[in-house]
Amino acid sequence: MENKIKIVFATGNAHKLQEINEISKGSGIEFVLPPEGFNPVENGSTFEQNSYVKAKEAALLSHNISLADDSGLCVEALNGEPGIHSARYSDTPQHRIDKLLTNLTRQSNRKAQFVCVMTLVDQNGNILTQEKGTCNGEIAKCQSGTNGFGYDPVFVVDGYGITMADMSEELKNKVSHRNNALQKIIAFIKSNLI
Ligand code: IMP
Repeated sequence: MENKIKIVFATGNAHKLQEINEISKGSGIEFVLPPEGFNPVENGSTFEQNSYVKAKEAALLSHNISLADDSGLCVEALNGEPGIHSARYSDTPQHRIDKLLTNLTRQSNRKAQFVCVMTLVDQNGNILTQEKGTCNGEIAKCQSGTNGFGYDPVFVVDGYGITMADMSEELKNKVSHRNNALQKIIAFIKSNLI
């Protein structure tokens, strides 16, 4: 049987864990959930700070190498907002999309970028590496598609002409900011930890 390196993935979201394990299939790495009691306070002002806070808390709880991500949508015409506030931009996923479209009414610059910063720490919470992944696109004028989550229905990926919510899970995983960051993390783990 293959001997896998176990890394705690600092999330309470089992779907995210599944996505990360799907992307890293065949890499010799298995990501597992943090122990009960994982409840980090995301009080940083950057993706880098927030992903570090999450990774450190998971490491100190589990005494294991841990990885965390922090992600969001940055819109050029809104000076990078909602950015680190993406999850709390309004009270429901639909209201967050509605607010974004309202804030971009009559705006011709609809350029946007999904950003994901991943931080890998050792069992004591010291940073081993921090990697950033991005996915460029534009905010559509109206929403389309039912796959994915969050802002996927209004994010049209550059070079594809369809929203992330109109992509299959497999295609989204190929082009996403999360995949982009994770590939760099996997490369680091393979050359330094396995
Ligand atoms: P977090 O990284 O889990 O804190 O998520 C930040 C927020 O950014 C999410 O709740 C979504 O609103 C948004 N977001 C991050 N990644 C994606 C994505 O792949 N699709 C759509 N929305 C995303």
